[in-house]
Amino acid sequence: MSARAQIGVTGLAVMGRNLARNFARHGYTVAVHNRSYGKTQSLIAENGDDGDFVPSESMEDFVASLERPRKVVVMVKAGAATDAVIDELVPLLEEGDIVVDAGNAHFPDTIRRENALREKGLHFVGTGVSGGEEGALNGPSIMPGGTAESYESLGPILEDISAKVDGVPCCTYVGPDGAGHFVKMVHNGIEYADMQLIAEAYDLLKQGLGASAAEIGQIFAEWNTGDLESFLIEITADVLQHVDAETGSAFVDVVLDQAEQKGTGRWTVQNGLDLGVPITGIAEATFARALSGSVPQREAGRAALPADAGTWAVEDRDAFVEDVRLALFASKVVAYSQGFDQIAAASAENGWDIDRGAMARIWRGGCIIRARFLNRITEAYERDAELPLLLADEYFTGAVGNGLAAWRRIVSQAALNGVPVPAFASSLSYYDGVRAERLPAALIQAQRDFFGAHTYKRVDREGTFHTEWSLDR
Ligand code: NAP
Repeated sequence: MSARAQIGVTGLAVMGRNLARNFARHGYTVAVHNRSYGKTQSLIAENGDDGDFVPSESMEDFVASLERPRKVVVMVKAGAATDAVIDELVPLLEEGDIVVDAGNAHFPDTIRRENALREKGLHFVGTGVSGGEEGALNGPSIMPGGTAESYESLGPILEDISAKVDGVPCCTYVGPDGAGHFVKMVHNGIEYADMQLIAEAYDLLKQGLGASAAEIGQIFAEWNTGDLESFLIEITADVLQHVDAETGSAFVDVVLDQAEQKGTGRWTVQNGLDLGVPITGIAEATFARALSGSVPQREAGRAALPADAGTWAVEDRDAFVEDVRLALFASKVVAYSQGFDQIAAASAENGWDIDRGAMARIWRGGCIIRARFLNRITEAYERDAELPLLLADEYFTGAVGNGLAAWRRIVSQAALNGVPVPAFASSLSYYDGVRAERLPAALIQAQRDFFGAHTYKRVDREGTFHTEWSLDR
């Protein structure tokens, strides 16, 4: 077996197969391997025309077919399967070779794997890949971590196959060890928030206007021509206008209202708690999915809890639609602002030195949260790389301030009419919390000192204090 392949892919299910095809279409000779040989054979039979593939049945032949330093992309089920493949690969590799885990690994696993492979003289690159199977084939957003040295030879290949926006690749070096998978995790968390906010906007339009799914789909299509332009708004317009072939009803109306999750939202929220970063938008979105799936609780709630709310009859349709649009945009900015705070906090804690503006840049294309307004986020971090609060950037203060009254109207009307808007409402509360002159946290500190002698600080002098409460009572 001559070592002629420039890159290898092991794991040829939907994602790996399409990534391998993407490499081949860009002129690379691609070594391909899968645990069961059938998937390798079917790739060659069905997509062999995409370019130059070198198929191998055994891992030994696969590794032997790669030019040095070898670059092996592992695209298998996250978790134990990834460890199994790495364990099989590592004894066959030599110093300086690069193992790329492009699956959805949890970043602590990536840190552990990077440490273990570094000790063996190998580079381990944990890489976020977003965009689903279509992105993997036609250009995903790619978030590689690992050593800067490994990026020198691997980076140009990944940039080549990534999505491009204005000619700029949606791929850049993120930072050491777990940084790439961490950023992908937050990307997915923001995706949860974005989807929940869109779902709440849909529900407000449905309940406030009594509009049909198709009518709401048209509103979303119109929104997609302005500030909200994004992949998620675009597909929402399509989904809402889709008719179920079996019943002739709007498709969304025949789908069971219980949202599922694979776990990246949960990881993001758990990490937000670990870091003490209030990512309320992502947390509300994750819990909203959990509430939707809480079947016994929902049955009990439906049977026992009165709404005590009026019948919603919006008078000015156009004004209401515009209010919902403005509230959606403002809430979305909060969710992104919080996600970027989380990236900053993790970057500081782990010494990753992540460039937040560059992350917004590589999310502009290829990935699920691709959106016009990510340009605005990049510009904000270009103005100030250390920006402590994205919301406080001059563009966003203007854009959110513009919709503030609408945001308040929408959240209060939703409450008065009994429509749940956890992400809209919590985003507005975050906005009011983070801009508040003084928070009721002072009372919490006083309570903590009362029952647990936890001490407190004062506004009028330096130091730490404790009050002997029993003497005062
Ligand atoms: P998948 O269903 O997650 O995994 C199937 C692949 O893993 C098959 O190639 C399978 O080999 C292999 N595999 C499973 N256990 C193995 C083991 N113990 N040893 C060796 N190989 C094993 O495939 P996928 O949907 O293409 O996703 C691949 C990765 O990309 C996952 O980490 C996923 O989370 C991530 N990802 C997926 C998407 C998406 O939209 N699907 C998007 C972004 C990221 P066999 O054929 O032999 O069973």
